[in-house]
Amino acid sequence: MEEAVLNRYLVLEERIRHYNPSAELSRLRTAFEYADNAHAQQTRKDGSPFITHPLAVAEIVADLELDTDSIIAALLHDCIEDTGATHEEIAKLFGGTVAELVEGVTKLTRVQYTSKEEEQMENLRKMLIAMARDIRVILIKICDRLHNMRTLMYHSPRKQKEIALETMEIYGPIAHRLGMQKVKWELEDLALQYLDPVGYRDIEQELEARASRHDEFMSSIQRKIEARLKEDGVSATVVGRVKHTYSIYRKMYSQNKTLDEIFDLYAFRVIVDDISACYNVLGCIHDLFRPVIGRFKDYIGTPKPNLYQSLHTTVIGREGLPFEVQIRTWDMHHTAEYGVAAHWKYKQGMANNTLGSETTFEWIRKLLESQQDTDAEEFVRTMKVDLFSDEVFVFTPRGDVINLPSGATPIDFAYNIHSAVGNHMTGAKVNGRIVTFDSQLKSGDIVEVITSKSAHGPSRDWIKIAKSNEARNKIRQWFKKERREENIATGRSSFESELKHAGLTMSAITAEEVLPGLLKKVSFGSLDELYAAIGYGGMSAQKAVNRIREEMTRLGRVEKAAEKAAALAAEPVITLSNPAIPKDTSKKSKSGDSGIVVEGMTGCLVKFAKCCTPVPGDQVIGFITRGYGISVHRADCPNAAPERQKPEEAGRWIHVSWAQEEHVTYKTALELSGKDRDGLALDVAMALATQKVKVTALSARSQPDGYAIVSVELEVKDRAQLSGVINRLNQIPGIFLVKRATG
Ligand code: MN
Repeated sequence: MEEAVLNRYLVLEERIRHYNPSAELSRLRTAFEYADNAHAQQTRKDGSPFITHPLAVAEIVADLELDTDSIIAALLHDCIEDTGATHEEIAKLFGGTVAELVEGVTKLTRVQYTSKEEEQMENLRKMLIAMARDIRVILIKICDRLHNMRTLMYHSPRKQKEIALETMEIYGPIAHRLGMQKVKWELEDLALQYLDPVGYRDIEQELEARASRHDEFMSSIQRKIEARLKEDGVSATVVGRVKHTYSIYRKMYSQNKTLDEIFDLYAFRVIVDDISACYNVLGCIHDLFRPVIGRFKDYIGTPKPNLYQSLHTTVIGREGLPFEVQIRTWDMHHTAEYGVAAHWKYKQGMANNTLGSETTFEWIRKLLESQQDTDAEEFVRTMKVDLFSDEVFVFTPRGDVINLPSGATPIDFAYNIHSAVGNHMTGAKVNGRIVTFDSQLKSGDIVEVITSKSAHGPSRDWIKIAKSNEARNKIRQWFKKERREENIATGRSSFESELKHAGLTMSAITAEEVLPGLLKKVSFGSLDELYAAIGYGGMSAQKAVNRIREEMTRLGRVEKAAEKAAALAAEPVITLSNPAIPKDTSKKSKSGDSGIVVEGMTGCLVKFAKCCTPVPGDQVIGFITRGYGISVHRADCPNAAPERQKPEEAGRWIHVSWAQEEHVTYKTALELSGKDRDGLALDVAMALATQKVKVTALSARSQPDGYAIVSVELEVKDRAQLSGVINRLNQIPGIFLVKRATG
């Protein structure tokens, strides 16, 4: 071991003994030697022995005056990650607490960070805190980060930017939340140096240029305050400073101000022995300088959410420069500098085994719950989440953070991603290992859902296993919806066969002028509802048909319907084996009655392009063909795209539009993609039937990858009706894409 390293360790040991006379120095020494040994083969980027890093982290932890376990954990914090050391070995040598702390820091080190939107970032911060369980893990991790930031110059520029960004987005806000102002400022200033070196240097230079003026101004103010307090017999320490660079930077850029326009560039601190002295000092300050109205804040009576307490006031000196004065006791000062860490300070007689346990958070809870302002409420809420863990934070394989209630299982995770993911889940992996559906997720887990196209949906047990209402509701919905589809399908088929027996046809009873009356007679709002009721047995098909027949007879439509039934022999019953439907030519578009207006004229010979089959409501364009009249395309048809239009044919493309009346139907085509399964084409046919559109062809082709494409040719009145059809088709289980056919 290098002598310099050993000496540095001995200085650290001395400092620890100073604030903690009963520190277990021999255990500490063993830890130092263990770490030195474990990292013996490694060097830092600057060429120094690796042990200088854990040693420096331990020094920063000692600045926070934490207990022996924390210092030992700081010395060992990279052992599991970078050397062969194991949790077991560390536990055996240094105790379970140290092993837990080291393990915790290691886990945080492994968290993958990529810059994300603010909400994700907030979840990531919460997750880090929740993962830590023992807040000392976070404190050590922040110290680790601080030392890495202090030595960031040895990294490549790309790595520097990455680490600096992570520091600014994750560790700065965590340090702030934990009230560790001093660390937060240093982290932010260091990060800024790498994120915006020019902006940072500009401010530094401007401050430099004003340095002598600043010094003069500040020492004169300081002398004035000191003299006045002495006169009044108040013993106090007065310190003046210029605000930290990043806070100036933020004000300059977010409020677009120059350095001279920043209101409170200077701040003075007056630190006294007790609270009553704070208010005395405030009186003196307001007597000496003119206070700025509305700038006084009493954070002693109402502490800030992160435990910060002080009196703040802004006053204007004789030079006309405003400055802030913060008045606090030494206790408050310590909390302001070290935040939560101040409360983890080594205290004599404090049993180590209570540190980090739930009960040690009690004081935070009490303190926070006594605070009334909304900021504090917000903090109580988030701190509870963070520290009392009613939530877990887990990763998707892509690194997104998902927030779930504590006790959540892979089922909750899957449904949180999407109901389709949950409904098709066949298995789950946590941190790369297959787990059972009821295993509980822990913060920091990487969760992967295994889905299968042929999965038959959730199991009813899942409702009991799931912890989140979201997952439970989605599972219930699936059962309700799934059963309804089944019910409608079976209900419809028994209804239809019963109808046939009674000598009635679907087209007869679905005629616009009779259907509402018939539905009323059977007391249902729609045919689907009737089918569903028949399907689940709420009404028999026979009973429904009897009532309908009675009503049809009363309306005098039975004979007519029967005739028509005989004539058509069979209404379209669409099956895969009989995809093409006989075309009903009774009310078809005639030439000259196409519903298209050509440049203000009607009566032109018009045909609709087969490639894109436009319907009213579509934007259309016409092409004068050689001898076949005008061919009408959808404006978005690839065949009508400007780049496809040949220059020599430029004159043939003409404006066309739809006529006002809608007295005809138009042929168009749809293409559906979905998961292949039995009955898919049948479902499509049934869905089309409920939309009362005429289907002229329907075919399904299985694809080699387990998917199927269903092609439908149909006739619709206009685009609105077509949208309705597309919506309905989209609801068919397994269908994930419905598009209009082109080409
Ligand atoms: Mn480290």
